Amino acid sequence: QSATFVNGSPRKTLVILGTGWGSISLLKNLDTSLYNVIVVSPRNYFLFTPLLPSTPVGTIELKSIVEPVRSIARRVPGEVHYYEAEALDIDPENKTVKIKSVNKEHEYQLDLKFDYLVNGVGAQPTTFGIPGVFENASFLKEISDAQEIRMKIMTSVEKAASLPPTDPERERLLSFVVVGGGPTGVEFAAELRDYVDQDLSKWMPGLSSEIKVTLVEALPNILNMFDKSLVDYAEQLFKQDRIDLRIKTMVKNVTKTTITAKCGDENEDIPYSVLVWATGNAPREVSKNLMQKLEVQDSRRGLLIDDKLQLLGAQGSIFAVGDCTFYPGLFPTAQVAHQEGEYLASVFKKLYKIDQLKWQAAQKNDADDSKIQNRISKIQAQIVPFKYHHMGALAYIGSDKAIADLAVGDSMYRSAGSFTFLFWKSAYLAMCMSFRNRVLVAMDWAKVYFLGRDSSV
Ligand code: FAD
Ligand code: NAD
Repeated sequence: QSATFVNGSPRKTLVILGTGWGSISLLKNLDTSLYNVIVVSPRNYFLFTPLLPSTPVGTIELKSIVEPVRSIARRVPGEVHYYEAEALDIDPENKTVKIKSVNKEHEYQLDLKFDYLVNGVGAQPTTFGIPGVFENASFLKEISDAQEIRMKIMTSVEKAASLPPTDPERERLLSFVVVGGGPTGVEFAAELRDYVDQDLSKWMPGLSSEIKVTLVEALPNILNMFDKSLVDYAEQLFKQDRIDLRIKTMVKNVTKTTITAKCGDENEDIPYSVLVWATGNAPREVSKNLMQKLEVQDSRRGLLIDDKLQLLGAQGSIFAVGDCTFYPGLFPTAQVAHQEGEYLASVFKKLYKIDQLKWQAAQKNDADDSKIQNRISKIQAQIVPFKYHHMGALAYIGSDKAIADLAVGDSMYRSAGSFTFLFWKSAYLAMCMSFRNRVLVAMDWAKVYFLGRDSSV
């Protein structure tokens, strides 16, 4: 793509950080022929996170929920340059971003200059500084996390099988604990119980009945964003499915073999072999660095943005989307990030027109040309604030059942059970990034239905 347009005006450089929900939604909807588009992300693919909890136990294959960034970039009108690198530091004053390659055999560091930057780096799992979590727990955010959890489950099961049933070490090896009763923790605990009851029970009937799945939640309820009736339904199902739900229980310490949790005034030790930690989000280092550079950025929950997704304190050159941001009323969900990406694509179309008009005025040596200024003001007025349309929330809760809290017009429609599970499946199929993903996910579900899950590593 040439550095200038046919009329001689310079093509502005737009750097997009990340290949997640926000950034990819922007990329897919952007007229990439209007900018020099550079995407920087350590992950050269988009990951469909809603089905990630299904992957460690093999309900869904990891390959089915990823879409290469190159394949997405090929389908947009202009050229897109991709760096497999992570952003280390954003300089809002000089409009540069320092990036570092993630490939150890091809190491480089670069300072990229930008006219506009969109930060879509997401968030990292939070541990609230609880000792032992980083060292001993697995998170559920990336493909590598899902692979690690699977390996830990399989190893623990095999080790336990080699011990006599009376050995207390066998009991510990068969204790799987999930901390955090948000949707990530709930969906994974549900998938794990399904795997044990529907598949492992066929191969190892005795041992599988000894497996204990525990879900620990600090608050009085799990799934706090759902209506109380749906939460009650999920909690009831967990009881029936033998998921040991420990509410009002706050984990305080983790060692290699034991979780210490506080419930009321009592401290309790829970021996475990696999611990999945899902207690929510914290800002990434690159976002924290940026916050420190701008005085107005005084929230520890994320980057502060205005209602047009512009980073506060960065004078219109930096935007931020998705989980790296904090804006009242906008939650860290795929739905929000996706809509923000779409919105920014339309904003960049208008910014291009404004930049072209400014260039024309500069060519005439008349920055105050009233005709041009009027046209610029008109376009600026068309950049209306971002408006989020909440469609509702869905969660899988196990035994082929799901819950749905759906927004229909101004009212909410709630449902739970097996029919809702079919709806959950069709909604996620429809949301898949590509036709290829859709086919692969549907085939995975069919495979599990007819043949069961794979029990090898
Ligand atoms: P992400 O999608 O996390 O993408 C961040 C991107 O930035 C990634 O490509 C990453 O590699 C890249 N990156 C990281 N660091 C850097 C760096 N330094 N420089 C450059 N790039 C970087 N939400 C829903 O609405 N519905 C669901 O059903 C749902 N299910 C979920 C299930 C799980 C297991 C998880 C973990 C989350 C789920 N979510 C769901 C939440 C949803 O995934 C997030 O809200 C969404 O991914 C946020 O999008 P994002 O673009 O901000 O960040
Ligand atoms: P979350 O923030 O929604 O839930 C974390 C839970 O962990 C909270 O209930 C919190 O009380 C609990 N917790 C925190 N510290 C604890 C401790 N020390 N001991 C015990 N419990 C503790 O986190 P999440 O589930 O990872 O979700 C992150 C975001 O992704 C949310 O916005 C969520 O809506 C979204 N998400 C949505 C879906 C879906 O819609 N199906 C699925 C997954 C994630």
